[in-house]
Amino acid sequence: MSRAPDLQSFIRDVPDFPRPGILFRDVTPLLGDAGALKAAVGALADPFRHVGVEKVMGIESRGFVFGAPVALALETGFALVRKAGKLPGRTRRVTYDLEYGTDTVEMHEDSLRAGERVLVVDDLIATGGTAAAAVQLARDCGAHVVGCAFLIELTALAGRRRLDVDPIHVLLRY
Ligand code: AMP
Repeated sequence: MSRAPDLQSFIRDVPDFPRPGILFRDVTPLLGDAGALKAAVGALADPFRHVGVEKVMGIESRGFVFGAPVALALETGFALVRKAGKLPGRTRRVTYDLEYGTDTVEMHEDSLRAGERVLVVDDLIATGGTAAAAVQLARDCGAHVVGCAFLIELTALAGRRRLDVDPIHVLLRY
């Protein structure tokens, strides 16, 4: 049997990107490796295989890259959470605070049904603001958030405290 890949070895640390003082966790080496990508997608989906997920929500843009194959693994549809102004149809929006200023995410209002069981996926949780906004969008549609899944958690920023969601599933912690 082949050994599971060490996913952390496929994350590249890039200091001072996109701004001085930020240590960027770059997932592109993982995306470029067939075995690591397959293992990551499978491990993100695993805890949610038998809990009746009906739709996966992915957050722009790396949340699309991981979320769509997780949706395939769970045999669900996929809903896009995008930055403001990108979606053509009628949308719901949530604005949330950043360190400096605010940001807004949107979703088509017909992406989720009331009562639908959804899983929120992104590549990384830092402060948790983006994921909390996605959870709010789902709840504004009347959907039921059955969990969140992230490849990476930056634990010092305590982002999970902003998510009243259980479980919050994470593959790698820094
Ligand atoms: P937050 O809203 O603070 O949890 O930020 C999460 C979003 O910002 C995710 O979509 C990440 O892709 C991105 N992000 C935040 N911090 C980093 C980091 N250090 N390295 C890579 N991506 C990051």
